[in-house]
Amino acid sequence: MSVTQQLLEFPLFINGERVPADSGEWFEVINPAYGIPVARVAKAGRSDVDKAVRVARETFESGVWSRRTPAQRAGVLMAFAQKIIENAAQIVFLESVSSGGTLRRLAGSDILQIVDLLQQTAKFVTEYKHVEALPSQPFPGPSNNQVWREPIGVCAAITPWNFPLILAMWKLAPALAMGNSVVMKPASNTPLSTLRLAELAVEAGLPKGVFNVVTGPGASMGEALVTHKEVDKIAFTGSTEVGRRIMQLASGTVKKVTLELGGKSPSIVLPDADLELAIPGILFGVFLHSGQICESGTRVLVHDSIYDEVVERLAATAATIKLGDPMQETTGMGPVVSKQQMETILQYIEAGKQEGARLVCGGKRATGNGLDNGYFIEPTIFADVRNDMKIAQEEIFGPVLSVIRYSDLDEAIRIANDTIYGLAAGIWTRDLNQAYKMAREIKAGTVWINDWHMLRSDAPFGGYKQSGFGRELGKYALDEYTQLKHVHASLVTEKSQRPWLSILFS
Ligand code: NAD
Repeated sequence: MSVTQQLLEFPLFINGERVPADSGEWFEVINPAYGIPVARVAKAGRSDVDKAVRVARETFESGVWSRRTPAQRAGVLMAFAQKIIENAAQIVFLESVSSGGTLRRLAGSDILQIVDLLQQTAKFVTEYKHVEALPSQPFPGPSNNQVWREPIGVCAAITPWNFPLILAMWKLAPALAMGNSVVMKPASNTPLSTLRLAELAVEAGLPKGVFNVVTGPGASMGEALVTHKEVDKIAFTGSTEVGRRIMQLASGTVKKVTLELGGKSPSIVLPDADLELAIPGILFGVFLHSGQICESGTRVLVHDSIYDEVVERLAATAATIKLGDPMQETTGMGPVVSKQQMETILQYIEAGKQEGARLVCGGKRATGNGLDNGYFIEPTIFADVRNDMKIAQEEIFGPVLSVIRYSDLDEAIRIANDTIYGLAAGIWTRDLNQAYKMAREIKAGTVWINDWHMLRSDAPFGGYKQSGFGRELGKYALDEYTQLKHVHASLVTEKSQRPWLSILFS
């Protein structure tokens, strides 16, 4: 990282070195809080992707990482975690000035999460069953049978702009733990923290060439990565639309794919809910990171009997959220990631009004108090939303909450599941038995009871339906980065004791 004309400068990171793109081209990263460039980043093309993949392949085949023992790899993961702790302030800064994430969230949660994930993955990989001996069976003849777990090879990791750091680590930690090489492509708005992570990994002892980062447009160089014949697996987090395209492209070379896609998660408020917990909990669920979280609780389903009170209290509490420069300690909600994203969200707000939803809070770009040049949107709440409205069906990825009325629990479940997505859901009630019963009926990869956003390094995360497939986090993620090999060794030493040969020979 160096500073040129006051802009931070980030080349590509290939084979442990910072290298410019072959084309010599750069693109700018904009600070969404002020609408000004903060960095220029190398714009990779097909030849750079090819170089990164070739390096990753050669490094993998050399065995310098892939054939290290799990304990040796775990040691490097622990050292990597330590490097992140030592460089936390810088990483937080890079993440905030590109993604608009608040200091309070990044320093108080994201950094802790990625460190915890590395440390826990180090534990999981040493406890993992890399070799499983199958029980011997006498028929058709005694043999020794084992199932080996092997690294897949070269993994391409493609990440979105909302949580660049966390989503990079969700892929990187298990991929490295199992001995794979990685070529990562962060989103063009937010590549800075990923490029810094790659440097820190090498400083922590990861051999050069194991973790490479290429930056540039998804549509061209992202596709070069997805279609590259030397890439064995694609781990993608992003929109459902791009996920579909990636799945199609990956079929050309029959790659393994895991997809973490969009969501439209329902938060169901039962009549007996403790509203002292539920009101701030629902708002935390939807407005954290300005609503730009895949598992945000964007649809709140409220029982008739408490509907008016809940709407009123949600609106009153949302109005207390303080917008501002994300790097200020006092800021609760920062900007959305880009001008384009801001415009998309404003169009959805307009659609909500036109479809007849009742705006009870926010509804426009936030200005004044130093916000004028940034991409800030007021926390926005629509009441009287029907589940077939555009704002209830489509992922907005902004601070917009839809409140939907229901009159019995079967109806609530039906509305909750009436979406193409299935990433997360929440239930607010004092009746735990009822909550568990409903959790069984909800089609989503994560269900929170009286909570939201509580993910753990040891619990699987992923989607049902069009929210994707495969799981990240925990020991479950290790499975996604391995090949299974069955090895059979015959213990039959005499030809005469191999009756199956008579099937072919008389
Ligand atoms: P996006 O799909 O536009 O882009 C994601 C990444 O894919 C970026 O790096 C982009 O450059 C790249 N890309 C785009 N087109 C590509 C192509 N044709 N081939 C290869 N790569 C391509 O998503 P986004 O706008 O960056 O992020 C927001 C989306 O991510 C939302 O839909 C959100 O729900 C989703 N998301 C999901 C999860 C999850 O875990 N399920 C987590 C965070 C975000």
